Amino acid sequence: MAFESLSEKLQNVFKNLRGKGRLSEDDVRIGLKEVRLALLEADVSFKVVKDFIKGIQEKATGSDVLNSLTPAQQVIKIVNEEMISLMGSETAELKIKPSGEITVIMMAGLQGAGKTTTTAKLAAKLKKKGNSPVLVGCDIYRPAAIEQLKRNGEKVDVPVFDMGTNRKPVEIAKKALEYAKENHHNIVFLDTAGRLHIDEDMMNELIEIKDNVNVDDIILVVDAMTGQDAVNVAETFNEKLDITGVILTKLDGDTRGGAALSVRAVTGKPILYVGMGEKLSDLEQFYPDRMASRILGMGDILSLIEKAEMDMDSEKAKKLSQKIAKADFDFNDFLEQLEQLEKMGGMASILSMLPGIGGKSALPQVDDGQMVKIKAIIQSMSKKERLDPSLLNPSRKNRIAKGSGVNIGEVNRLVKQFEQMKKMMKQFPGMMKNNKKRGALG
Ligand code: GDP
Repeated sequence: MAFESLSEKLQNVFKNLRGKGRLSEDDVRIGLKEVRLALLEADVSFKVVKDFIKGIQEKATGSDVLNSLTPAQQVIKIVNEEMISLMGSETAELKIKPSGEITVIMMAGLQGAGKTTTTAKLAAKLKKKGNSPVLVGCDIYRPAAIEQLKRNGEKVDVPVFDMGTNRKPVEIAKKALEYAKENHHNIVFLDTAGRLHIDEDMMNELIEIKDNVNVDDIILVVDAMTGQDAVNVAETFNEKLDITGVILTKLDGDTRGGAALSVRAVTGKPILYVGMGEKLSDLEQFYPDRMASRILGMGDILSLIEKAEMDMDSEKAKKLSQKIAKADFDFNDFLEQLEQLEKMGGMASILSMLPGIGGKSALPQVDDGQMVKIKAIIQSMSKKERLDPSLLNPSRKNRIAKGSGVNIGEVNRLVKQFEQMKKMMKQFPGMMKNNKKRGALG
Protein backbone atom coordinates (compact mmCIF):
# COMPACT_ATOMS: atom_id res chain seq x y z
CA MET A 1 0.00 0.00 0.00
CA ALA A 2 1.16 3.52 -0.77
CA PHE A 3 2.88 5.38 2.05
CA GLU A 4 2.57 2.43 4.38
CA SER A 5 5.76 2.88 6.32
CA LEU A 6 5.64 6.67 6.49
CA SER A 7 2.05 6.51 7.61
CA GLU A 8 2.86 3.98 10.29
CA LYS A 9 5.78 6.00 11.62
CA LEU A 10 3.91 9.27 11.75
CA GLN A 11 1.01 7.63 13.48
CA ASN A 12 3.37 6.26 16.10
CA VAL A 13 4.75 9.73 16.71
CA PHE A 14 1.24 11.07 17.18
CA LYS A 15 0.25 8.18 19.40
CA ASN A 16 3.14 8.99 21.71
CA LEU A 17 2.13 12.63 21.79
CA ARG A 18 -1.51 11.80 22.43
CA GLY A 19 -0.67 9.62 25.36
CA LYS A 20 0.84 12.61 27.09
CA GLY A 21 -2.18 14.90 27.20
CA ARG A 22 -0.40 18.15 27.86
CA LEU A 23 2.76 18.65 25.84
CA SER A 24 5.92 20.33 26.96
CA GLU A 25 8.22 22.10 24.53
CA ASP A 26 10.49 19.11 24.81
CA ASP A 27 7.70 16.73 23.79
CA VAL A 28 7.04 18.81 20.69
CA ARG A 29 10.73 19.01 19.90
CA ILE A 30 11.19 15.25 20.19
CA GLY A 31 7.98 14.64 18.26
CA LEU A 32 9.13 16.87 15.43
CA LYS A 33 12.50 15.18 15.38
CA GLU A 34 10.72 11.90 14.82
CA VAL A 35 8.53 13.41 12.11
CA ARG A 36 11.71 14.67 10.46
CA LEU A 37 13.32 11.23 10.58
CA ALA A 38 10.19 9.57 9.23
CA LEU A 39 10.15 11.98 6.28
CA LEU A 40 13.83 11.45 5.53
CA GLU A 41 13.35 7.70 5.64
CA ALA A 42 10.44 8.14 3.25
CA ASP A 43 13.02 9.63 0.87
CA VAL A 44 11.73 13.17 1.02
CA SER A 45 14.52 15.54 0.03
CA PHE A 46 16.56 17.03 2.85
CA LYS A 47 15.75 20.62 1.99
CA VAL A 48 12.04 19.91 1.73
CA VAL A 49 12.08 18.24 5.14
CA LYS A 50 13.96 21.13 6.65
CA ASP A 51 11.50 23.72 5.38
CA PHE A 52 8.58 21.51 6.35
CA ILE A 53 9.71 21.15 9.95
CA LYS A 54 10.47 24.84 10.17
CA GLY A 55 6.96 25.64 8.96
CA ILE A 56 5.44 23.40 11.60
CA GLN A 57 7.58 24.84 14.36
CA GLU A 58 6.55 28.37 13.47
CA LYS A 59 2.89 27.51 13.32
CA ALA A 60 3.00 25.46 16.50
CA THR A 61 4.58 28.17 18.56
CA GLY A 62 2.54 30.98 17.05
CA SER A 63 -0.88 29.38 17.17
CA ASP A 64 -3.62 30.07 19.67
CA VAL A 65 -4.56 27.14 21.83
CA LEU A 66 -7.98 26.01 20.77
CA ASN A 67 -10.12 24.94 23.66
CA SER A 68 -11.58 22.06 21.74
CA LEU A 69 -8.22 20.53 20.83
CA THR A 70 -5.52 18.89 22.87
CA PRO A 71 -1.97 20.02 22.15
CA ALA A 72 -1.34 16.67 20.46
CA GLN A 73 -4.33 17.15 18.19
CA GLN A 74 -3.10 20.62 17.48
CA VAL A 75 0.26 19.27 16.33
CA ILE A 76 -1.48 16.74 14.09
CA LYS A 77 -3.65 19.47 12.65
CA ILE A 78 -0.64 21.63 11.83
CA VAL A 79 1.30 18.72 10.32
CA ASN A 80 -1.72 17.95 8.18
CA GLU A 81 -2.06 21.53 6.99
CA GLU A 82 1.65 21.79 6.19
CA MET A 83 1.55 18.51 4.33
CA ILE A 84 -1.33 19.72 2.20
CA SER A 85 0.46 22.93 1.35
CA LEU A 86 3.63 20.95 0.58
CA MET A 87 1.75 18.92 -2.00
CA GLY A 88 0.04 21.90 -3.53
CA SER A 89 -3.01 23.07 -1.55
CA GLU A 90 -5.29 22.99 -4.54
CA THR A 91 -6.09 20.17 -6.90
CA ALA A 92 -4.45 20.99 -10.22
CA GLU A 93 -6.63 20.58 -13.27
CA LEU A 94 -5.48 19.92 -16.79
CA LYS A 95 -7.02 22.62 -18.99
CA ILE A 96 -8.62 21.45 -22.19
CA LYS A 97 -9.43 24.14 -24.76
CA PRO A 98 -13.03 24.83 -25.70
CA SER A 99 -14.57 22.77 -28.47
CA GLY A 100 -13.37 23.56 -31.97
CA GLU A 101 -9.80 23.96 -30.75
CA ILE A 102 -7.11 21.33 -30.37
CA THR A 103 -5.19 20.79 -27.14
CA VAL A 104 -1.75 19.29 -27.70
CA ILE A 105 -0.32 17.38 -24.78
CA MET A 106 3.25 16.15 -24.93
CA MET A 107 3.95 13.18 -22.70
CA ALA A 108 7.55 12.87 -21.54
CA GLY A 109 9.44 10.61 -19.20
CA LEU A 110 12.21 8.08 -18.83
CA GLN A 111 11.84 4.60 -20.27
CA GLY A 112 9.88 2.32 -17.99
CA ALA A 113 8.32 5.15 -16.00
CA GLY A 114 4.93 4.17 -17.36
CA LYS A 115 4.55 6.85 -20.01
CA THR A 116 2.83 4.78 -22.69
CA THR A 117 0.47 3.17 -20.21
CA THR A 118 -0.32 6.50 -18.59
CA THR A 119 -0.95 8.18 -21.94
CA ALA A 120 -3.67 5.61 -22.67
CA LYS A 121 -5.07 5.93 -19.14
CA LEU A 122 -5.32 9.70 -19.40
CA ALA A 123 -6.80 9.58 -22.90
CA ALA A 124 -9.45 7.16 -21.65
CA LYS A 125 -10.27 9.44 -18.74
CA LEU A 126 -10.62 12.50 -20.96
CA LYS A 127 -12.62 10.57 -23.53
CA LYS A 128 -15.11 9.67 -20.83
CA LYS A 129 -15.58 13.38 -20.23
CA GLY A 130 -16.72 13.83 -23.82
CA ASN A 131 -13.40 14.58 -25.55
CA SER A 132 -12.11 12.96 -28.70
CA PRO A 133 -8.42 12.21 -28.17
CA VAL A 134 -5.86 10.69 -30.51
CA LEU A 135 -2.57 9.09 -29.47
CA VAL A 136 0.54 9.76 -31.51
CA GLY A 137 3.52 7.39 -31.63
CA CYS A 138 6.60 9.63 -31.58
CA ASP A 139 8.97 7.02 -30.16
CA ILE A 140 10.80 6.04 -33.33
CA TYR A 141 13.61 4.22 -31.55
CA ARG A 142 11.74 1.24 -30.29
CA PRO A 143 9.28 -0.32 -32.73
CA ALA A 144 7.79 -2.13 -29.76
CA ALA A 145 6.80 1.22 -28.24
CA ILE A 146 4.48 2.05 -31.14
CA GLU A 147 3.03 -1.44 -30.97
CA GLN A 148 2.38 -1.06 -27.26
CA LEU A 149 0.72 2.31 -27.81
CA LYS A 150 -1.53 0.74 -30.45
CA ARG A 151 -2.49 -2.09 -28.12
CA ASN A 152 -3.29 0.32 -25.31
CA GLY A 153 -5.21 2.58 -27.69
CA GLU A 154 -7.31 -0.35 -28.77
CA LYS A 155 -8.09 -1.30 -25.19
CA VAL A 156 -9.45 2.15 -24.40
CA ASP A 157 -10.94 2.65 -27.84
CA VAL A 158 -8.80 5.66 -28.74
CA PRO A 159 -7.21 5.84 -32.23
CA VAL A 160 -3.45 5.88 -32.65
CA PHE A 161 -1.63 7.88 -35.32
CA ASP A 162 1.85 6.78 -36.33
CA MET A 163 4.26 7.02 -39.25
CA GLY A 164 6.46 4.08 -38.40
CA THR A 165 10.05 4.61 -37.31
CA ASN A 166 11.60 6.34 -40.30
CA ARG A 167 10.42 9.91 -39.79
CA LYS A 168 11.60 12.50 -37.31
CA PRO A 169 9.40 12.88 -34.21
CA VAL A 170 8.80 16.56 -34.88
CA GLU A 171 7.56 15.73 -38.37
CA ILE A 172 5.24 13.03 -37.01
CA ALA A 173 3.87 15.50 -34.48
CA LYS A 174 3.11 18.10 -37.15
CA LYS A 175 1.38 15.56 -39.38
CA ALA A 176 -0.58 14.29 -36.37
CA LEU A 177 -2.00 17.75 -35.85
CA GLU A 178 -3.26 17.84 -39.42
CA TYR A 179 -4.72 14.38 -38.91
CA ALA A 180 -6.48 15.53 -35.74
CA LYS A 181 -7.97 18.54 -37.49
CA GLU A 182 -9.26 16.44 -40.37
CA ASN A 183 -10.71 13.82 -38.06
CA HIS A 184 -12.17 16.18 -35.48
CA HIS A 185 -10.03 15.12 -32.56
CA ASN A 186 -9.76 17.79 -29.90
CA ILE A 187 -6.86 16.35 -27.90
CA VAL A 188 -3.54 15.16 -29.34
CA PHE A 189 -1.29 13.11 -27.07
CA LEU A 190 2.31 12.97 -28.25
CA ASP A 191 3.88 9.83 -26.83
CA THR A 192 7.57 10.73 -27.00
CA ALA A 193 10.63 8.53 -26.65
CA GLY A 194 12.16 7.91 -23.28
CA ARG A 195 15.69 6.85 -22.44
CA LEU A 196 17.04 4.93 -19.53
CA HIS A 197 18.67 8.10 -18.21
CA ILE A 198 18.37 11.76 -19.00
CA ASP A 199 20.52 12.53 -22.03
CA GLU A 200 21.09 15.51 -24.31
CA ASP A 201 19.65 13.92 -27.44
CA MET A 202 16.37 13.09 -25.76
CA MET A 203 16.02 16.59 -24.30
CA ASN A 204 16.89 18.23 -27.62
CA GLU A 205 14.31 16.16 -29.39
CA LEU A 206 11.63 17.21 -26.90
CA ILE A 207 12.68 20.85 -27.15
CA GLU A 208 12.48 20.64 -30.93
CA ILE A 209 8.93 19.31 -30.78
CA LYS A 210 7.97 21.98 -28.28
CA ASP A 211 9.43 24.74 -30.45
CA ASN A 212 7.85 23.58 -33.67
CA VAL A 213 4.45 22.32 -32.69
CA ASN A 214 1.98 24.30 -30.63
CA VAL A 215 2.33 22.20 -27.51
CA ASP A 216 -0.11 23.34 -24.80
CA ASP A 217 0.95 21.07 -22.00
CA ILE A 218 4.01 19.02 -21.21
CA ILE A 219 3.22 16.27 -18.77
CA LEU A 220 6.10 14.44 -17.20
CA VAL A 221 5.53 10.86 -16.17
CA VAL A 222 7.74 9.71 -13.31
CA ASP A 223 7.92 6.49 -11.37
CA ALA A 224 7.07 7.15 -7.70
CA MET A 225 8.96 4.05 -6.63
CA THR A 226 12.26 5.67 -7.60
CA GLY A 227 11.80 8.26 -4.83
CA GLN A 228 14.36 11.06 -4.93
CA ASP A 229 15.47 10.02 -8.42
CA ALA A 230 11.96 10.77 -9.63
CA VAL A 231 12.19 14.21 -8.08
CA ASN A 232 15.60 14.87 -9.65
CA VAL A 233 14.28 13.79 -13.04
CA ALA A 234 11.33 16.13 -12.62
CA GLU A 235 13.62 18.99 -11.69
CA THR A 236 15.80 18.52 -14.78
CA PHE A 237 12.86 18.15 -17.16
CA ASN A 238 11.27 21.23 -15.70
CA GLU A 239 14.42 23.30 -16.10
CA LYS A 240 14.75 22.34 -19.75
CA LEU A 241 11.14 22.15 -20.82
CA ASP A 242 9.08 24.13 -18.31
CA ILE A 243 6.64 21.29 -17.79
CA THR A 244 2.96 21.77 -16.92
CA GLY A 245 2.77 19.11 -14.28
CA VAL A 246 3.68 15.62 -13.22
CA ILE A 247 1.95 12.28 -13.21
CA LEU A 248 3.34 9.95 -10.58
CA THR A 249 3.02 6.31 -11.57
CA LYS A 250 3.21 3.15 -9.47
CA LEU A 251 2.08 4.90 -6.34
CA ASP A 252 0.32 1.64 -5.54
CA GLY A 253 3.71 0.05 -4.95
CA ASP A 254 5.38 3.02 -3.30
CA THR A 255 5.53 2.38 0.40
CA ARG A 256 7.72 5.40 1.09
CA GLY A 257 6.00 8.31 -0.63
CA GLY A 258 8.98 10.66 -0.86
CA ALA A 259 8.37 11.61 -4.48
CA ALA A 260 4.74 12.51 -3.90
CA LEU A 261 5.78 14.70 -0.99
CA SER A 262 8.67 16.49 -2.69
CA VAL A 263 7.88 16.91 -6.39
CA ARG A 264 5.76 19.98 -5.94
CA ALA A 265 8.11 21.69 -3.52
CA VAL A 266 11.19 21.03 -5.64
CA THR A 267 9.78 21.85 -9.10
CA GLY A 268 6.97 24.23 -8.25
CA LYS A 269 4.82 22.15 -10.61
CA PRO A 270 1.77 20.24 -9.45
CA ILE A 271 1.09 16.53 -9.43
CA LEU A 272 -1.87 16.18 -11.76
CA TYR A 273 -2.67 12.49 -11.48
CA VAL A 274 -1.33 9.38 -9.83
CA GLY A 275 -1.08 5.89 -11.29
CA MET A 276 -2.45 3.34 -8.86
CA GLY A 277 -2.04 0.10 -10.81
CA GLU A 278 -1.38 -1.57 -14.15
CA LYS A 279 -4.99 -1.56 -15.34
CA LEU A 280 -5.87 1.23 -17.74
CA SER A 281 -8.50 2.48 -15.34
CA ASP A 282 -6.01 2.88 -12.49
CA LEU A 283 -5.38 6.59 -12.78
CA GLU A 284 -6.64 8.95 -10.09
CA GLN A 285 -6.79 12.68 -9.85
CA PHE A 286 -4.39 13.92 -7.23
CA TYR A 287 -5.95 15.62 -4.21
CA PRO A 288 -3.30 17.00 -1.83
CA ASP A 289 -5.74 17.12 1.10
CA ARG A 290 -6.92 13.55 0.70
CA MET A 291 -3.38 12.37 0.23
CA ALA A 292 -2.31 14.07 3.44
CA SER A 293 -5.18 12.46 5.32
CA ARG A 294 -4.20 9.14 3.87
CA ILE A 295 -0.59 9.56 4.95
CA LEU A 296 -1.59 10.62 8.43
CA GLY A 297 -4.14 7.81 8.54
CA MET A 298 -6.70 10.03 10.19
CA GLY A 299 -8.99 11.48 7.62
CA ASP A 300 -12.09 11.15 9.72
CA ILE A 301 -10.54 12.37 12.89
CA LEU A 302 -9.24 15.42 11.11
CA SER A 303 -12.63 16.41 9.81
CA LEU A 304 -13.94 15.82 13.29
CA ILE A 305 -11.32 18.12 14.70
CA GLU A 306 -12.43 20.75 12.23
CA LYS A 307 -16.02 20.20 13.23
CA ALA A 308 -15.07 20.39 16.88
CA GLU A 309 -13.52 23.77 16.27
CA MET A 310 -16.74 24.95 14.72
CA ASP A 311 -19.35 23.26 16.85
CA MET A 312 -18.00 22.52 20.26
CA ASP A 313 -19.46 24.73 22.93
CA SER A 314 -16.29 25.42 24.88
CA GLU A 315 -18.05 26.32 28.12
CA LYS A 316 -19.98 23.07 28.14
CA ALA A 317 -16.85 21.18 27.21
CA LYS A 318 -15.03 22.75 30.11
CA LYS A 319 -17.75 21.78 32.55
CA LEU A 320 -17.79 18.27 31.25
CA SER A 321 -14.06 17.91 31.49
CA GLN A 322 -14.18 18.95 35.14
CA LYS A 323 -16.86 16.38 35.80
CA ILE A 324 -14.84 13.69 34.14
CA ALA A 325 -11.85 14.69 36.21
CA LYS A 326 -13.86 14.16 39.36
CA ALA A 327 -15.27 10.95 37.90
CA ASP A 328 -18.82 12.10 38.55
CA PHE A 329 -19.95 11.88 34.98
CA ASP A 330 -23.65 10.94 35.03
CA PHE A 331 -26.43 10.22 32.55
CA ASN A 332 -27.36 13.91 32.37
CA ASP A 333 -23.88 14.69 31.14
CA PHE A 334 -24.12 11.78 28.79
CA LEU A 335 -27.37 13.17 27.35
CA GLU A 336 -25.94 16.64 27.02
CA GLN A 337 -22.95 15.19 25.24
CA LEU A 338 -25.20 13.29 22.88
CA GLU A 339 -26.92 16.51 21.96
CA GLN A 340 -23.60 18.13 21.17
CA LEU A 341 -22.63 15.03 19.27
CA GLU A 342 -25.66 15.19 17.09
CA LYS A 343 -24.29 18.44 15.79
CA MET A 344 -20.95 16.77 15.18
CA GLY A 345 -21.85 13.37 13.84
CA GLY A 346 -21.01 10.27 15.79
CA MET A 347 -20.39 8.92 19.24
CA ALA A 348 -17.53 6.61 18.45
CA SER A 349 -15.72 9.42 16.71
CA ILE A 350 -15.95 11.88 19.56
CA LEU A 351 -14.83 9.22 21.99
CA SER A 352 -11.83 8.56 19.82
CA MET A 353 -10.91 12.20 20.17
CA LEU A 354 -10.65 12.00 23.92
CA PRO A 355 -6.92 11.91 24.59
CA GLY A 356 -5.63 8.58 25.78
CA ILE A 357 -8.89 6.84 25.03
CA GLY A 358 -8.69 7.11 21.26
CA GLY A 359 -8.90 3.81 19.48
CA LYS A 360 -9.58 1.66 22.56
CA SER A 361 -11.91 -1.06 21.39
CA ALA A 362 -13.53 -1.49 24.80
CA LEU A 363 -15.50 1.67 24.19
CA PRO A 364 -19.14 1.46 23.23
CA GLN A 365 -19.62 1.46 19.49
CA VAL A 366 -22.57 3.70 18.82
CA ASP A 367 -23.94 4.61 15.43
CA ASP A 368 -26.41 7.37 14.68
CA GLY A 369 -29.47 5.10 14.73
CA GLN A 370 -28.49 3.85 18.14
CA MET A 371 -27.93 7.40 19.27
CA VAL A 372 -31.65 8.15 18.89
CA LYS A 373 -32.47 5.08 20.98
CA ILE A 374 -29.95 5.98 23.64
CA LYS A 375 -31.42 9.44 23.92
CA ALA A 376 -34.89 7.96 24.34
CA ILE A 377 -33.66 5.59 27.04
CA ILE A 378 -31.97 8.36 29.04
CA GLN A 379 -34.98 10.61 28.64
CA SER A 380 -37.15 7.87 30.14
CA MET A 381 -35.04 7.82 33.29
CA SER A 382 -36.05 9.86 36.29
CA LYS A 383 -33.81 12.72 37.44
CA LYS A 384 -32.56 10.63 40.33
CA GLU A 385 -31.76 7.69 38.10
CA ARG A 386 -29.80 9.83 35.74
CA LEU A 387 -27.69 11.19 38.57
CA ASP A 388 -27.23 7.83 40.23
CA PRO A 389 -27.29 4.92 37.78
CA SER A 390 -26.79 2.46 40.66
CA LEU A 391 -30.51 2.89 41.40
CA LEU A 392 -31.34 1.09 38.19
CA ASN A 393 -32.77 -2.23 39.39
CA PRO A 394 -34.63 -4.63 37.05
CA SER A 395 -38.07 -3.13 37.69
CA ARG A 396 -36.85 0.40 36.99
CA LYS A 397 -35.10 -0.84 33.85
CA ASN A 398 -38.31 -2.48 32.74
CA ARG A 399 -40.20 0.77 33.18
CA ILE A 400 -37.55 2.66 31.21
CA ALA A 401 -37.61 0.09 28.42
CA LYS A 402 -41.37 0.43 28.09
CA GLY A 403 -41.17 4.22 28.24
CA SER A 404 -38.58 4.45 25.51
CA GLY A 405 -39.96 1.70 23.31
CA VAL A 406 -36.91 -0.56 23.43
CA ASN A 407 -36.38 -3.96 24.98
CA ILE A 408 -34.80 -4.40 28.37
CA GLY A 409 -31.66 -5.86 26.83
CA GLU A 410 -30.95 -2.52 25.21
CA VAL A 411 -31.36 -0.68 28.50
CA ASN A 412 -29.01 -3.16 30.16
CA ARG A 413 -26.48 -2.72 27.41
CA LEU A 414 -26.50 1.05 27.71
CA VAL A 415 -26.08 0.98 31.48
CA LYS A 416 -23.27 -1.51 31.14
CA GLN A 417 -21.53 0.54 28.46
CA PHE A 418 -21.93 3.66 30.53
CA GLU A 419 -20.31 1.97 33.50
CA GLN A 420 -17.54 0.65 31.33
CA MET A 421 -16.90 4.14 30.08
CA LYS A 422 -16.78 5.55 33.59
CA LYS A 423 -14.36 2.83 34.56
CA MET A 424 -12.14 3.68 31.61
CA MET A 425 -12.19 7.32 32.57
CA LYS A 426 -10.96 6.41 36.02
CA GLN A 427 -8.13 4.48 34.47
CA PHE A 428 -6.71 7.65 33.02
CA PRO A 429 -6.22 9.90 35.99
CA GLY A 430 -3.17 11.60 34.48
CA MET A 431 -5.05 12.46 31.39
CA MET A 432 -7.99 13.84 33.30
CA LYS A 433 -5.75 15.99 35.43
CA ASN A 434 -4.29 17.46 32.29
CA ASN A 435 -7.69 18.14 30.89
CA LYS A 436 -8.68 19.84 34.07
CA LYS A 437 -5.64 22.05 33.95
CA ARG A 438 -6.38 23.05 30.41
CA GLY A 439 -10.03 23.41 31.18
CA ALA A 440 -11.20 21.77 28.00
CA LEU A 441 -12.60 18.47 26.91
CA GLY A 442 -9.67 17.75 24.66
P1 GDP B 1 7.17 3.57 -20.65
O1 GDP B 1 8.43 2.92 -21.05
O2 GDP B 1 7.43 4.80 -19.85
O3 GDP B 1 6.25 3.83 -21.78
O4 GDP B 1 6.46 2.60 -19.62
P2 GDP B 1 5.26 1.60 -19.81
O5 GDP B 1 4.01 2.35 -20.05
O6 GDP B 1 5.64 0.57 -20.78
O7 GDP B 1 5.17 0.99 -18.35
C1 GDP B 1 6.22 0.25 -17.76
C2 GDP B 1 5.62 -0.76 -16.78
O8 GDP B 1 5.06 -0.08 -15.66
C3 GDP B 1 4.51 -1.57 -17.38
O9 GDP B 1 4.64 -2.91 -16.94
C4 GDP B 1 3.24 -0.96 -16.79
O10 GDP B 1 2.19 -1.88 -16.67
C5 GDP B 1 3.73 -0.52 -15.43
N1 GDP B 1 2.94 0.57 -14.87
C6 GDP B 1 2.66 1.79 -15.41
N2 GDP B 1 1.95 2.54 -14.58
C7 GDP B 1 1.76 1.82 -13.44
C8 GDP B 1 1.10 2.06 -12.18
O11 GDP B 1 0.53 3.13 -11.90
N3 GDP B 1 1.13 1.06 -11.26
C9 GDP B 1 1.75 -0.13 -11.52
N4 GDP B 1 1.74 -1.05 -10.56
N5 GDP B 1 2.39 -0.38 -12.68
C10 GDP B 1 2.39 0.57 -13.63
